[in-house]
Amino acid sequence: MTMSRSLKDPFGREIEYLRLSVTDRCDLRCFYCMPKGFDDYQESVDSLTFDEIERVVAAFGELGVKRIRLTGGEPLVRKDVTQLAGRLAKLNGIEDLSLSTNATRLSKHADELHNAGVSRINVSLDTLDPHRFREITGGKLEKVINGLMAAKEAGFFPIKINMVAMKGVNDDEFEQMVEFCIEHDFTLRFIETMPMGATGFGAKDHYLDLLSVERRLGERFELLPGVMPGGGPARYVQVSGTDLRIGFITPISQHFCESCNRIRLSADGNLYLCLGQDHSYALRPLLRGGISDDGLKEAIFEAIALKPERHEFNEKPNQVVRFMSMTGG
Ligand code: SAM
Ligand code: SF4
Repeated sequence: MTMSRSLKDPFGREIEYLRLSVTDRCDLRCFYCMPKGFDDYQESVDSLTFDEIERVVAAFGELGVKRIRLTGGEPLVRKDVTQLAGRLAKLNGIEDLSLSTNATRLSKHADELHNAGVSRINVSLDTLDPHRFREITGGKLEKVINGLMAAKEAGFFPIKINMVAMKGVNDDEFEQMVEFCIEHDFTLRFIETMPMGATGFGAKDHYLDLLSVERRLGERFELLPGVMPGGGPARYVQVSGTDLRIGFITPISQHFCESCNRIRLSADGNLYLCLGQDHSYALRPLLRGGISDDGLKEAIFEAIALKPERHEFNEKPNQVVRFMSMTGG
């Protein structure tokens, strides 16, 4: 059976981007993402195998999904993830394979990831202060900086820094991060905090409206309207006289649900249709029950039909009980 239907959800949005969480494990403990001391991980037998992941991505590729992002948890914690990247990069229809990482293990893997076909990377970095970094993540800043430099050396471009903007945590460092990104030719994206899971981290605790951040940066730097190819939901400005683009990802203050073209696959094989809602569709039992390739594609259509119109972070901030580390942000 040939599939000529496109992957359109009930609200007319064409789905062409899959975020693939390859593990729910992480070697850091960012306080906004995982609760302190958290170790209630999935059993590894519950995780999709590389063969299963490849099958699912191949089906998505045939249905029109062009972009895959490997994420987690920390994707580089999963053994041999470079091998998986190489397999996915070769699949029909997949034009863009990218990675979101905390960069702690990047200095070891940057070259091999680049050679495997990963074209772009995003690195989480909320502070340039080693003590603060330890407080936020429990880890060592030095490893991340080394990882970033190795990524640059390996030829990744663009490298995007994702900084979660938090009142009372890192709001005195935005200008410094801008300077750091100008110096190293990184792209900088600010992210609004989202209330996820039982991290005890609510939208109100440290929430900052990014419009106020943009206004503040405008007092120090001349900000021009900017564009970023493949920039996703971020709105960009460019710092005059430099190559630096700054993106603002504002799921809370200005949601971008009407143009959302993405879905998420958790490491244990659940498709999540919206970051801010619990609608999901379990693929693992189908994969392990011997479903045919056409049956798998039909299941994907059924899942897409469940995609809700928009998140409700503002109306129901306690609604989503899973952690960001399950679906990779
Ligand atoms: N471990 C990788 C990393 O940190 O980039 C990939 C997974 S992480 C869950 C993906 C992104 O989600 C990171 O940029 C992180 O800052 C963001 N994130 C996690 N919890 C968040 C929250 N409650 N609000 C906003 N962003 C969050
Ligand atoms: Fe780990 Fe990324 Fe979550 Fe931090 S944001 S705890 S690095 S998964």
